[in-house]
Amino acid sequence: MKFLDQAKVYLRSGNGGPGAVSFRREKFIEFGGPNGGDGGRGGSVIIECVDGLNTLIDYRYQQHFKAKNGGHGMGRDRTGAAAADVILKVPVGTQVLEEDNETLIADFTEVGQRMTLCRGGDGGRGNSAFKTATNRAPRKFEPGWPGEERWVWLRLKLIAGVGLVGMPNAGKSTLLSVTSRAKPKIADYPFTTLVPQLGVVAVGEREFVMADIPGLIEGASEGVGLGHRFLGHVERCRVLLHLIDATEPDVVATYKTIRGELAAYDADLAAKPEVVVLNKMDSVSEDELAEKVGSLQKVTGRRVHVISAVIGENVQPLLFDLLKYVDRGKAEERAAEEEEQRKKSGAEAETWRP
Ligand code: GDP
Ligand code: MG
Repeated sequence: MKFLDQAKVYLRSGNGGPGAVSFRREKFIEFGGPNGGDGGRGGSVIIECVDGLNTLIDYRYQQHFKAKNGGHGMGRDRTGAAAADVILKVPVGTQVLEEDNETLIADFTEVGQRMTLCRGGDGGRGNSAFKTATNRAPRKFEPGWPGEERWVWLRLKLIAGVGLVGMPNAGKSTLLSVTSRAKPKIADYPFTTLVPQLGVVAVGEREFVMADIPGLIEGASEGVGLGHRFLGHVERCRVLLHLIDATEPDVVATYKTIRGELAAYDADLAAKPEVVVLNKMDSVSEDELAEKVGSLQKVTGRRVHVISAVIGENVQPLLFDLLKYVDRGKAEERAAEEEEQRKKSGAEAETWRP
């Protein structure tokens, strides 16, 4: 299951600058002739596909993108300054649609792909361009050509890179609320009453999407409770964050219960990379914590993070660790896609043999 992230943005390119009317005036030179330069080009609005972005969240904060107008032409045949282009950066997978939110304008599938959505207006010609044999002193000039404006929709299928699993009360909602900088509004969501909580988690300059799946309880995979409906959402996650309440008397049993649920639901899900985290370190003694970490490390065979979601202790290192998994998952996915493409083109080449 994917989530849809979308934003409507207003784009406007700059007008071209007007041409100038000017005459050469120098001592001892009579009838110096016209020398008004052309106006500069207005800035364009361009969309570019870049690496390292996972959401369209920035376009919720800023929705208007206007490029500047070109500069006026000037005397002595100087052309006006061209205005800078405005570049909107979007992640791979972004689609651009017309204002009707149906007509597809562009599909951004590769890093580096660019498209000009509003072209900047050309500058108008100055009077020196209108000099003719019969009119040697024209006062004619052009205004700049107007820029363009339009509304477009940006649309992206969001993939939650990190899926939160754990017993009720482990602190999943708390962790999501303290780490996420925004909650994308989810369109196209099939269940209306209970929605998975999504958050965009900022890590340094980067970001990923984390999803909290409500109500994963024992028996969820058999249809008890609500959990099973939501397990579907974690299927596409690149890493599972398995959160365990450190105040639980038997953390190993808790861990195994959730693992059992995941395995019963789907073997692929259970095979996903997992980061095990003991939460609420602020509420247990050091000795107790050490003992619980030890026993969990023994059953999981890997490092166990220890955090306090409420006071934010050790949360940053955890986020950086998660980001590594998200990036690795993405790289693997890309490699698999390329492999598929190669196989496909290979098969085509074979069928083409006469
Ligand atoms: P969820 O059911 O997994 O979403 O758990 P919640 O986020 O709703 O948290 C359950 C309870 O645990 C709430 O009362 C939280 O305030 C509390 N809690 C969450 N994180 C911590 C923590 O790091 N330390 C302590 N002491 N309590 C926490
Ligand atoms: Mg919750």
